[in-house]
Amino acid sequence: MAKQPTVAIIGRPNVGKSTLFNRLVGKRLALVDDRPGVTRDRREGEASLLGLEFRIIDTAGYEDEDPQTLPGRMRAQTSAALREADAALFLIDARAGVTPLDEEIARWLRSETTPVILAANKAEGKAGESGLLEAYSLGLGEPVPISAEHGEGVVDLFEHLRPHVEREEEDEPEPEDENDRPLKLAIVGRPNAGKSTLINRILEEERLITGPEAGITRDSISIDWEWQSPDGRARPVRLIDTAGMRKKAKVQDKLEKLSVADGRRAVEFAEVVVLLLDATLGLEAQDLRIADYVLQEGRALLIAINKWDVAENHSQLFQGIRAALQEGLSQAPGVPLLAVSAMTGKGLDQLLAAAFEIREVWSRRVSTGQLNRWFEDAIERNPPPAPGGKRIKLRYITQVNTRPPAFVIFGNRLEMLPDSYLRYLTNGMRKELDFGAVPVRISTRTSR
Ligand code: GDP
Ligand code: GDP
Repeated sequence: MAKQPTVAIIGRPNVGKSTLFNRLVGKRLALVDDRPGVTRDRREGEASLLGLEFRIIDTAGYEDEDPQTLPGRMRAQTSAALREADAALFLIDARAGVTPLDEEIARWLRSETTPVILAANKAEGKAGESGLLEAYSLGLGEPVPISAEHGEGVVDLFEHLRPHVEREEEDEPEPEDENDRPLKLAIVGRPNAGKSTLINRILEEERLITGPEAGITRDSISIDWEWQSPDGRARPVRLIDTAGMRKKAKVQDKLEKLSVADGRRAVEFAEVVVLLLDATLGLEAQDLRIADYVLQEGRALLIAINKWDVAENHSQLFQGIRAALQEGLSQAPGVPLLAVSAMTGKGLDQLLAAAFEIREVWSRRVSTGQLNRWFEDAIERNPPPAPGGKRIKLRYITQVNTRPPAFVIFGNRLEMLPDSYLRYLTNGMRKELDFGAVPVRISTRTSR
């Protein structure tokens, strides 16, 4: 396995190394003390910064008898950390300004080959301003103002660290085979759309039910079973069922209908949600509201027209619903639409195959290279506006999450970026990076 990217935090005692370490690692592992040079072991942790993951070494607290010199022991330990690191994060105290010891460390770092990111800590408020300016004199480039204690300067720090610690995707460990993880599936729709019939039908056909298992919440349970896909593989499915639905399925109590709350709960636990329509009724406003809710929750959505067996004018009906969706669900153009019959079983294999497929897209990570090539291209084709004659600068984009896919754009004056431009990017991303109708989230962060 490739070595994990590593950052060493370096600096004289009391500049805030441990505080920063704690913030990045997210656990209160390190001791923080006001007394300079409190003895601590070298600590390492898994750091996470806006989706960047790396190993971090805190070199805090190497015994220091004479604070005016760089003691040999500190230097030996720090040298060891530096050799392992892809980048050194050199911290100074912006409130204290540059001290002789800072200068000595800087001199030493300049003679080493490890890239250095200079950060001026304790820069919250005004008290750090002069120290920040002084920091330029260290000859290590532009200092990044941060406040480890208050969590400020995170974006800036991210931008400076990213080139050193971001791994190319081929280094990433292969994700476990998605298809071996149960597909969490929920089926929603208006009363009488055929949800219970559909569930009974799939469960009837599959003899490999391992559930039903109680769990998740008081009101909803999951049923585990394996779908025998046409390619001969058994694929695990976890159907997120609701109490209301199951009871009804059992006792055929036509009066008890799936309440809105039940449906919502099922959506929350699902990865993929099938919205069932009734072919004899077509698409109605309530269906669009449910679809909208599913997308807002960030779930992958499939729409199935049920009761296809009794529908008339099949092709016209299908085209009509497709067009109505295009219009009424413009936030997810091209949401997969299938025709099924819960009664006869028609289309159910295709429905499950589509559900597995869309989960894969929903879980996908785009490489930073591919993402930014697309991004630069999209900006070039249609540059962002320049409100008041001042250009909005979009610098780069990074994927911060999957399931659903989420992205952050970094740049300047992003608060001026119109929603229409974000929509342009979102739609472009869907089409050109093959996210289809999966809900994609793009947010923005302004760097200084
Ligand atoms: P280390 O010796 O470099 O590891 O420094 P510590 O993390 O132990 O911090 C030394 C002192 O500086 C502690 O009292 C911290 O609370 C304080 N400190 C750390 N970061 C900040 C900051 O961003 N702003 C301010 N005002 N104080 C900080
Ligand atoms: P739910 O309220 O969404 O759970 O709907 P049900 O499963 O109770 O179905 C409502 C009615 O539609 C019942 O009378 C079902 O027999 C009928 N139904 C469900 N699926 C189909 C189908 O694919 N074809 C036909 N013809 N009727 C169906």
